Amino acid sequence: MHLYVHVPFCRSKCAYCGFVSYPYDRGRVEDYLQALTEEIRVLGKRWQRPEISSLYVGGGTPSLLAPFELEGIFRAIRDSFSVKPELEFTLEGNPESIGSPDYLGQLRRLGVNRLSLGLQSLNNESLVFLDRRHTAEQGIEACRLAREAGFENLSVDLLWSIPGQDLSGWLVELKTLADLGIRHISCYALGLEPGTVLEGLDRSGDVFWPSEEDQARMYLQGISLLWEKGLRQYEISNFAVEGFACRHNMGYWLGRDYLGFGPAAVSTVGTRRWKNPEGLQDYLKAPAGGRSRSGGEETGVREQINELLMLRLRTTRGLRLKEYFELAGRDLLAENRLLINELERKGLIVRQQGRLCLTPEGMLVSDSLITGFFV
Ligand code: SF4
Repeated sequence: MHLYVHVPFCRSKCAYCGFVSYPYDRGRVEDYLQALTEEIRVLGKRWQRPEISSLYVGGGTPSLLAPFELEGIFRAIRDSFSVKPELEFTLEGNPESIGSPDYLGQLRRLGVNRLSLGLQSLNNESLVFLDRRHTAEQGIEACRLAREAGFENLSVDLLWSIPGQDLSGWLVELKTLADLGIRHISCYALGLEPGTVLEGLDRSGDVFWPSEEDQARMYLQGISLLWEKGLRQYEISNFAVEGFACRHNMGYWLGRDYLGFGPAAVSTVGTRRWKNPEGLQDYLKAPAGGRSRSGGEETGVREQINELLMLRLRTTRGLRLKEYFELAGRDLLAENRLLINELERKGLIVRQQGRLCLTPEGMLVSDSLITGFFV
């Protein structure tokens, strides 16, 4: 089983952010931590202390929490779950809140063995446009300090397709990080989330996005550059040196069981799925034992089939056709012969060793391509 903890606090809201997050406030943090640890203990007991192979603390900005606060969360997890010795333990952080050797050393002592840094860009103009609170120099310094503190398993989040960004600048960003020895990079296309500052700006017509051709070049040439640097693509947006793929996220794409704690966190166990209340107040008000059951439902076979397509085809391993047949009782190739031939001819999909996989060009249009197979 995999665990996810959502920490919904940030110092300020970035212009593009659609995640559930609230301004950092001491009183609110204390209430949250109390509710969270209670939820962890109740769920651990309900599921009879299952074994966990990964723990991912994301947000929001988890690195805003003090080490003693994080320790309280981890204590509740250790008390309520059976933690595998080789646990992958990831914490997300931002350069301005994580960049002190003392803090990083305390994270190591708490058992964090994978750090995911939200750099987003190495271009200061882009960082200002995105309303980030740090500079490119602070981002690079945070990487250096994390490596010095012993975080070999260090991941960096970057955004591409930012208005004002060009292909050569983007490739320089990737090269800089690869040359720094970063072993895992997540590259997300900047999108428009409802209700964000960026969405408002875009509506006013003042935002000039890179053209579709430039976006395609950024994605495809980025993949080639990272490949040359030894970071292989293993999912639409994720690249890693061998042995450094994120086990937590792979678990999600492979459909493993996971429990989510905190506001808006989603859980899936077998065919049952539920989501915690999104609002912090609603989350705090709900009884710990009922919090994670609100809105819970059994996923139907049709939903399971479509999800199998959506999750497996995101990865470079692709979809095992036998797995599809076992769930759906149908032959994907036979039912979609014309479509698959067409996609193969266009170089968007390949069949190999009993699997169907998207090519990099296919991943660029993955949403529309995958939904074409939906039942
Ligand atoms: S730091 Fe991350 S979660 Fe917080 S507002 Fe910015 S993008 Fe959103």
